[in-house]
Amino acid sequence: MPLSFQIDFIDSKKNGGKLLVVNGFRFFRNKKRGSRQYWKCSNYYKEKCPAIAIYDETSFNLRLCHQHRHNTSNDIAEKKIKVDPID
Ligand SMILES: [Zn+2]
Repeated sequence: MPLSFQIDFIDSKKNGGKLLVVNGFRFFRNKKRGSRQYWKCSNYYKEKCPAIAIYDETSFNLRLCHQHRHNTSNDIAEKKIKVDPID
């Protein structure tokens, strides 16, 4: 598990919502409980991908759960907004 993520938010062309992009994987907003946002992999329906991302708005912690069942989709433009130094 990497200590730093490459995170971005992009506009979804489908419904005008936001997509979360983590290390090239896209997630759509699923639900919110308290300060926690739950994001599901954009291939959740197509590939039955179990990967989810949980973002805590108060601690700014992003946690990734479960492994993707597919490779990264590269059909989007990415930009870095934050990269934590490794050393
Ligand atoms: Zn996935």
